[in-house]
Amino acid sequence: MAFLRCSRDPCGVICLILTYFSVFYADYVVIQYVLIPTYPDSVWCSLHGSVFNLILLLLLACHSKAVFSDPGMVPLPETAMDFSDLRSQSSRMNERGCEGWTVCSCCETYRPPRAHHCRVCQRCIRRMDHHCPWINNCVGELNQKYFIQFLFYTGVASLYSMVLVVSAWVWRIRNERDGVAEKEGEETPSKHLIVAHYIILLVESVLFGVFVMVIVYDQLVSIITDETPIEQMRNRLMIKDRGSSSSSSSSTSSQPPHPPHTRKPKLALLREVFGRGSVFCWLLPLHANPPSVGGITYSALPDYDV
Ligand SMILES: [Zn+2]
Ligand SMILES: [Zn+2]
Repeated sequence: MAFLRCSRDPCGVICLILTYFSVFYADYVVIQYVLIPTYPDSVWCSLHGSVFNLILLLLLACHSKAVFSDPGMVPLPETAMDFSDLRSQSSRMNERGCEGWTVCSCCETYRPPRAHHCRVCQRCIRRMDHHCPWINNCVGELNQKYFIQFLFYTGVASLYSMVLVVSAWVWRIRNERDGVAEKEGEETPSKHLIVAHYIILLVESVLFGVFVMVIVYDQLVSIITDETPIEQMRNRLMIKDRGSSSSSSSSTSSQPPHPPHTRKPKLALLREVFGRGSVFCWLLPLHANPPSVGGITYSALPDYDV
């Protein structure tokens, strides 16, 4: 399992603990210091409490799926493979319609196009996006949907808690100004403690909110352009190399100036990640259809000679 393989990464374990701690802290502050004092004996208290906890539940469900799901690990061969004649093997693979397959020297196996080796997971991951310490797992072809859903619910929870904290704070200031707060001063925790919790939750919400919005944007751009960050970097380097080689030698080049780019519609690319169900299903951590329809069937290794 991906989690067990990556669990030795201390950064990933710390980030997992920090994630759970932040979620439970936010829930505690919202219930104890925001909703109960602001909406005592009101239906708004249970309504906001239920909605906020539902968002947190979805957040944790998506996070668990992203953590424990297989991101798309390329299976290892059962027997050791002979890579002594790579050139002729790769030409034979191309003849068999396995174009784009490469060899990973770390895993000692063939891997499908767009698969990359992760040094933390120590395995090749299909359509690897990046290794994320916040899920202590790679983000790849099979768990990218859960990762984006986790980011989305984190953003929603951050925004919601910000609104609740600010409105509770305004309510408190208004009451103090009107002299209403004196009545409940005996039982409630000290004003300084409440304000400290408000500030900590606000800082947490702003930091996580901005952070996840930036990553969601990057993820969506990488999906609709059909280029993972690794491929973007590689393509940029290819263009740079080509530019420098063409400027140094004025000889004509037969290669195109830009790498070949996808012509798939954006919706089709989004469906490959989020599944073919309705947009409503895109928000739920449900299993998506296998994304490689019409492409290479990744479940089997190519018909190689050992
Ligand atoms: Zn590998
Ligand atoms: Zn990884």
